[in-house]
Amino acid sequence: MALVVQKYGGTSVDNLAKIENVAMRVIKAKEAGNQVVVVLSAMAGETDRLINLAHQITDSPDEREYDALISTGEQVTVSLLAIMLNKMGYPARSFLGFQVKILTDGAYKQARIVNIDTMAIKNELKNGVIVIIAGFQGVDSDNNITTLGRGGSDTSAVALSAALHADVCDIYTDVDGVYTTDPNICSKARRLSKITYDEMLEMAMLGAKVLQPRSVEMAKKYQVPLYIRSSFTDEGGTLVTKEDSAMEREVVSGVTYDRDQAKITVVHVPDRPGIAARLFTPLAEHHIVVDMIIQNASVEGFTDLTFTVSRKDIKEATRLVEEAGKDIGAAKVEVDENVAKISIVGVGMVSHSGVAAKMFATLAHEGINILMISTSDIKISCVVQAKYTELAVMVLHDTFELDKRS
Ligand code: ASP
Ligand code: MG
Repeated sequence: MALVVQKYGGTSVDNLAKIENVAMRVIKAKEAGNQVVVVLSAMAGETDRLINLAHQITDSPDEREYDALISTGEQVTVSLLAIMLNKMGYPARSFLGFQVKILTDGAYKQARIVNIDTMAIKNELKNGVIVIIAGFQGVDSDNNITTLGRGGSDTSAVALSAALHADVCDIYTDVDGVYTTDPNICSKARRLSKITYDEMLEMAMLGAKVLQPRSVEMAKKYQVPLYIRSSFTDEGGTLVTKEDSAMEREVVSGVTYDRDQAKITVVHVPDRPGIAARLFTPLAEHHIVVDMIIQNASVEGFTDLTFTVSRKDIKEATRLVEEAGKDIGAAKVEVDENVAKISIVGVGMVSHSGVAAKMFATLAHEGINILMISTSDIKISCVVQAKYTELAVMVLHDTFELDKRS
């Protein structure tokens, strides 16, 4: 008998008809002789609605109450699914994070799971009960409700799979797998049948929205095989797994883009120790995530520093950098919000030369200017003007022949 964890996202449970559809899938897995644990998100849009309610009262709601509020969407879906399954003749029980108990640290809005007590779940499974667990939430050691960050029910599902030693963790969503790029902007995008954890992690961080990056990190750490599939069809699916020798090491597996980028340049700063620290420490203190950073070679003791942040942080980041810029004698601060990051990802890149050159030549051929570059073992990212996003994705998809392989 296998133990299967199935996670359904918000678009798979946002009305009763869809919850019934989920119930049928759960029953199918159960009838096939499996023990089934289901993890659910809130109905699509519900978490946003709750956040918006809190923000109608104040810009900075108390964090404890904020998490207590935004975790409620999942309570609705898990209980509805249990009621649905019971009506269809299948014993099922819902559990909230604290009932399981999914113990987290006390970092509201982005808590980390510390421990999962599997006893209650195992007892139910032993009795043939389908267990349905609210994703996205946990409880800290003082019994406060916590949440795991937006998209956190993916992480709940992976953590539960690891704790229960599940045979597989199926992530059901509204697309039938992971694609070489976004099919909405490139009609030649092709579904990947397999992808490594590392590639998936890069793609998730670079803007592919199928999985919360933390869930991929955790899946890799505990070697949980993930299957991304659609709750609306039986076709397709992408297996996220460790690299095996049989797996061809693709030089490039995917092209991603991220329009949530803004570029800030601090112009003409004296090139001496402590300058970067003076600029970036205030950003860190304000929890602003800085993505790429470039410092130009200095000319006559002066240099330019350019970096990118998420567009939501642009106002605050500019203010902080202007302040620091004055202190260190920078000439001015320039902001460009019309940029996007285009990346190529592939585990085979490490062992192939010329991949970066090929990417740059492809962009150059289209007259696309590269504003910033950053690389790692398995990805190369270029910041370009936002208006070139679609074009850049399409030509790179062609250059690396991503439509061709199976
Ligand atoms: N409902 C939560 C959110 O919208 C968690 C999730 O969907 O994974 O972020
Ligand atoms: Mg999600």
